[in-house]
Amino acid sequence: MKSFKEYINYSAGRALSANTKFNLLIYGVRDNSELFDKYSSSFKEEHYAFDNGNWGIDKKRATPTEIILPGGIVSKLHIRPNSPIHLEESGGSLLICKDNKELSEFRFLPRPNFWKYQTIKGICSKRYAQMYGLNCLNFNIYSGCEFQNCGKGCKFCSVNSTVDKNNPIIVKKDPKELSEICQLATYYDDIDYIIITGGSYIDGNKEFDNHIDVIKAIKNHLPWNGRIKGNVSMMPPKDSSRLIELYENGVDNPSFNMEVWPKSAFEKFCPGKAQFVGFDKIISSLKQLVTYYGSGQVWSNFVAGIVSIEDMKAGFQFMAENGIVPGANIYHAEVNSAIGKSLGIIDYDYIKELYSYATELYIKYNYKPYFNASILRNSLANEFYEGLL
Ligand code: SF4
Repeated sequence: MKSFKEYINYSAGRALSANTKFNLLIYGVRDNSELFDKYSSSFKEEHYAFDNGNWGIDKKRATPTEIILPGGIVSKLHIRPNSPIHLEESGGSLLICKDNKELSEFRFLPRPNFWKYQTIKGICSKRYAQMYGLNCLNFNIYSGCEFQNCGKGCKFCSVNSTVDKNNPIIVKKDPKELSEICQLATYYDDIDYIIITGGSYIDGNKEFDNHIDVIKAIKNHLPWNGRIKGNVSMMPPKDSSRLIELYENGVDNPSFNMEVWPKSAFEKFCPGKAQFVGFDKIISSLKQLVTYYGSGQVWSNFVAGIVSIEDMKAGFQFMAENGIVPGANIYHAEVNSAIGKSLGIIDYDYIKELYSYATELYIKYNYKPYFNASILRNSLANEFYEGLL
């Protein structure tokens, strides 16, 4: 049996793994309580700090947040009772099967080591942060959203119902305590990137202040000499002169995520972002960041599958020709989101056309997809870019 390292480095398995991830992201996977209970002490469990794509699952039950496929490709698991895909253990191997035919073997991702430790105040570090994919530290500064509080949340998002009063996540996190978490993760785990995200505030300057306070508090407690190696995602501040602070404080890849395209769809699906920030403000702020960073460092992420493929491609093209790297997560139904299950399964050809087009743009403009295939668990941008699909 391959060691974990050999399994991750098994490059000959990557094409099959990419195809399996494609299936997993479209269809999700059925629950398997017996298997999950058996391995619950050894896998990294879903910690429900922002989103919940697990239908019919009690959040107190341990379910794996992701799996890793041969060659080191990581896929998110979304549990859907009617999926044609299930997980099973057979002959000492863990297998992914679709319509009872084997697609691939898989392994669970281990829990991050830093989850064993507490902050100085004695609070478990899992309440603050998680590991996203194989080795990307991830936390939400605010595991909530004021747009949702006033009924203007993005229609695909479930943050306020995911993080309910029974959930032990710290909702508003203190910069000092986040710096402790960064020290623990740096010391006990082999982290390669970081992702920092909001929740949004109606007062955009307050949201920006919170982010800058956290960035300043943590940047010297990470392994990258004061850099924030990864993505900080938020809405832009009202005061655009402050955008330079992201660059000055060492953030590698800031993003203001547009989610959908064009403006009419943005206003429909992201009413809070539209009302309290504005489509044009996001565009002008992204362009302003490009004047500091140059082309290919500033990101804007989308949700693939909500608007037509033509609209998505137009949004990708607009971003790319303005120096901004477009990316997309594949839409999955979130429990208690406004859209819920109404969109059904996202079409295979839509996903293929979108990421093929993204690859064309990345090559044309000399961009790279975000992170890599062991981190970007809800996207196939890396797998298409690598030519695996
Ligand atoms: S801005 Fe939209 S996506 Fe972000 S937390 Fe609020 S509702 Fe969710």
